[in-house]
Amino acid sequence: MTGAPTPLPLAGRTAVVTGAGRGIGRAYALRLAALGADVAVIDRDLHSYEEFELEREAMRAGTTAEEVETLGRRALALEADVTDPAAVDAAVGEVLGAWGRLDIAVCNAGGGIGTIEETRASIVSAEFLDVIVQGNLYGTIHTCRAVARPMKEQRWGRIVTISSQAGRRAYPDGGYSVYGAAKAGIAMYTRYLAQEMGPYGVTANCLAPGYIATGRLMPLFSSLGAEQLLGSIALRRYGTPDDCAGPLEFLVTELGSYVTGTVIPVDGGSTL
Ligand code: NDP
Repeated sequence: MTGAPTPLPLAGRTAVVTGAGRGIGRAYALRLAALGADVAVIDRDLHSYEEFELEREAMRAGTTAEEVETLGRRALALEADVTDPAAVDAAVGEVLGAWGRLDIAVCNAGGGIGTIEETRASIVSAEFLDVIVQGNLYGTIHTCRAVARPMKEQRWGRIVTISSQAGRRAYPDGGYSVYGAAKAGIAMYTRYLAQEMGPYGVTANCLAPGYIATGRLMPLFSSLGAEQLLGSIALRRYGTPDDCAGPLEFLVTELGSYVTGTVIPVDGGSTL
């Protein structure tokens, strides 16, 4: 017996994912597309995956946006730097102009820079402070501000921000201090956002990944000593970008409709 096919959970929804040119952001974009959403891929360089072998091997088309299209969804490929509020507003404006609504935003762009030694809490430079806080906390807030207006008007929306295990517990010896502080700031900002947006039917939640095997970070994990790192993870393996896409799916589909203001560790138990 054949019945009508079950509609995909995000059919008719539109989404933006920042920092989706490669890595975990790409996995978020592809998961949303597989669930039925049209996806706008935002990155400051949509070909940034070409820099890393692991990312080149993973890519199945010219860019993440083209991969979304091969899944049968509409895609927009938008180059913008999330530290520039005008650029973020313009990108969100393009999505609204093209699709008329914006339902889901994943504020994923970010990352750390510098070595453990040069980012220790007592000596981190003003320059690192600026770049890291701008790239993570400011970029997230600029994106949330841009997507909040249409979501309020629609009275429906799903916002997911990205923190880190580094925002939940401090690394020994104080390395990556400012990155951790910025990521902790994102988690707290998300709770404030959830309070404000709840009455409009908009949820805001935060994912806090642990050691996730992306092209940029795998060499760092190896240099820190794989045995020691893996030994600190309860599940004894690095996470994959897809491991992060699962909790995202929960938060943006009906499964997570009564969940807001949470920070969900996606770290295999590295922060227990
Ligand atoms: P990647 O560096 O592999 O990918 C991030 C993408 O976002 C890159 O294309 C990057 O471009 C882009 N990007 C960075 N800053 C901006 C910006 N200001 N505006 C637009 N695009 C930008 O990172 P991951 O996939 O590993 O991580 C994704 C997110 O998850 C980050 O927020 C990171 O902090 C967080 N995270 C990752 C963990 C991991 O183990 N991988 C662990 C915990 C958190 P460019 O090359 O120019 O920087």
